[in-house]
Amino acid sequence: MKKQTLKTYFGYDSFRPGQEEIIDHILAEQDVLAVMPTGAGKSLCYQLPALLMPGITVVVSPLISLMMDQVKAMNEAGIHAAYINSSLTENQIARALELAKAGQYKIIYVAPERLETPRFLDFACHTEISMITVDEAHCISQWGQDFRPSYVKILSFIRQLPLRPVVSAFTATATERVREDILSSLQLEHPYETVAGFDRENLYFEVQKTEDKKERVRTYLESHREDSGIIYCATRKGVDELYLYLDNSGFSVGRYHAGMGAEARRTSQEDFIYDRVKVMIATNAFGMGIDKSNVRCVLHYNMPQSMENYYQEAGRAGRDGEPAECILYYSPQDTVINRMLLESKEDYREYTADELRMIQAQDMERLRKMEVYCTTTKCLRAYILNYFGENAEESCGNCSNCLEEFDEMDASEAAGDVVRCVRSCGQRFGVNVIAGTLLGENTAKIRNYRMDQSPVYGKQSKMGQTLVKEVIRTMLERGYLRQTQDKYSLLKLTEKSEQLLDQESPFVISYKKEKEKKKDSGKSTAGRRSVQTEELTEKGRELFEELRRLRMELARGRSVPPYVVASDKTLRDMCVKLPLTESEMLDVNGMGAKKLEQYGGIFLEKIREITGGNRESWDPDHNTDAVAETPLTEKKAKGRKSEFRLTEEILDGIRYVPEITISDFVARINELRDEKQMKRLTIKQLTEILLEEGCLEQRFQNGYTRKCLTEKGREAGIRTEERISSKGNPYEVFLYTEKGQKYLVKLIKRMSEKDREL
Ligand code: ADP
Ligand code: MG
Repeated sequence: MKKQTLKTYFGYDSFRPGQEEIIDHILAEQDVLAVMPTGAGKSLCYQLPALLMPGITVVVSPLISLMMDQVKAMNEAGIHAAYINSSLTENQIARALELAKAGQYKIIYVAPERLETPRFLDFACHTEISMITVDEAHCISQWGQDFRPSYVKILSFIRQLPLRPVVSAFTATATERVREDILSSLQLEHPYETVAGFDRENLYFEVQKTEDKKERVRTYLESHREDSGIIYCATRKGVDELYLYLDNSGFSVGRYHAGMGAEARRTSQEDFIYDRVKVMIATNAFGMGIDKSNVRCVLHYNMPQSMENYYQEAGRAGRDGEPAECILYYSPQDTVINRMLLESKEDYREYTADELRMIQAQDMERLRKMEVYCTTTKCLRAYILNYFGENAEESCGNCSNCLEEFDEMDASEAAGDVVRCVRSCGQRFGVNVIAGTLLGENTAKIRNYRMDQSPVYGKQSKMGQTLVKEVIRTMLERGYLRQTQDKYSLLKLTEKSEQLLDQESPFVISYKKEKEKKKDSGKSTAGRRSVQTEELTEKGRELFEELRRLRMELARGRSVPPYVVASDKTLRDMCVKLPLTESEMLDVNGMGAKKLEQYGGIFLEKIREITGGNRESWDPDHNTDAVAETPLTEKKAKGRKSEFRLTEEILDGIRYVPEITISDFVARINELRDEKQMKRLTIKQLTEILLEEGCLEQRFQNGYTRKCLTEKGREAGIRTEERISSKGNPYEVFLYTEKGQKYLVKLIKRMSEKDREL
């Protein structure tokens, strides 16, 4: 019954993680509190049971736009639903409630302020209500960011009902405190509580450190012209500036911030939802209530104030489960802006001095963790999941850090110079002045501060700005420097700083290899054209655009947003499956019986027309058989490339050389694989095995661990070579002789076989 309803009304073949359990508990008349990330599919968890329960379901929702969209989408799917809010006249409300009383609707959305009006109470007390659903339930908590006083009244409303219905609450906010608030403010009875996994596999994460954000964003948009996206800026001024720039550059952009009039905001939002503009440039005021499913990218022009903010905003990408990209453009200036914004935050007024101090300390700590996200060289997804208290694999293979190669270098001398520089200027400056001094910059600032007289002025000019800053960042991370917590962020020495001057052991940093070389750095790592059509054939892409146009026409005709007619995912699946009959059309993801009735036929006709009714002759490259086995959409959406495996082809392709470093060797092997099918082999995986085998061992020195070669490693064909950095500091590299390379291959082979057994 559930499955059938899922297909008929919603057009899906399977539940997403967590959905079915929630639905089961609701149907067993148990209260529910479900925390699921944005885009995970909360609506379905109450809409589907609402259809199966005898009476009506009342959904409390905070925003008018949100209700309207949901009701439209449901009506399109053949579900009878209505909403009650201030956008209707009293007469319209009376009429809607009459129909509801007469059993015309299965679901009715209502704004919280309306619950206790006499008219609504009258309706509620004389109608069979099966469930009250509280959507965006965090609005009930004063600790959440979107507290709504009218939410507090929900409980007293429930108490006035003759029979207490099932109460279900949904939110994307996971903190313990907010959850407790929801439980107690709604008085949930023995609820089924669930916190769904926070991972969104279809999202690709990337951080780009750059001072030239405008240019980066422009190049990105250029290669994604067909995609819908959101760009978040920290300030209204930022929004206006970027808007003008991109508008002048000929992009289809809109803007949204609280400084605009209500009417202007509303039109702007609608233009975006109805795909009349592709890209929305906005402050964080934009978003709640944006259910648009085909947002293909969320770019952050500035670093947000916390990971909570970031993940919520980024999470608006790819709600349809299709691949989407979340890119954050970071420059250290962002930290400064955010500190200022936090310090001038207005709603601080009502707190006591003590509370204020505590809140500010908390804010700063959140900001600091956000900054770590922007600068870490580890897996971004793992960082996010750990932040939200989930375990994660060390490497996800779908973020910029996992996809990029890192190089190591001995930066002992530069680090020593940083210490000398900070010391000689009396610890009075921040990162930019110190870096500028080492680089020998000839700017007014440097001259005014007399830093051009510093003994280390220009000593690291060869290294380049990016690397010098990377050295300073790494020193901060490892505690060789610290930064003052005020808006000046001055660099200060620590008790460890001196160690870098005697240079007993090298100070090694790892840094991104590619970015410096690649000229097209505006593109994201993968540098793809349009996020969701990249796996279609040439013909398939043409068809996709054709169907997209048709969707736009249909949407206009019925005054609904295009994604309500069919999601991008549904269109793409059509281009993959090329349905020619109604039953084939029903196989398409998101195509239920009702949708088929309304739109399916029209799409079908178009596909028949374009293909001439013959898939093979229309597009010889098209491979329906392969698709039938593993739907492309599924495969790609989940980012499910298989783990690296040493295949015969790869083995055949390996050429042994007299001596090579492990990173070059691994890079050559990775080039031999089919990168569409298989994740890359990582140096980390291999290093772990080498450690297990006892060829390398970890030693702790000067505050961080170093890997050292063992006797066994030497026997296996690895040797170390002392190298001298350009400034005369010794450091070590591991070289693999031919014997060593063969040994590595043996390890990789064993690893592949073990994976297959699992
Ligand atoms: P949120 O949890 O943020 O409220 P929504 O309920 O708006 O998320 O759902 C996000 C998207 O996921 C919608 O486009 C919806 O149609 C889609 N979706 C929900 N459940 C499924 C499912 N079982 N299979 C495929 N898509 C789904
Ligand atoms: Mg929702």
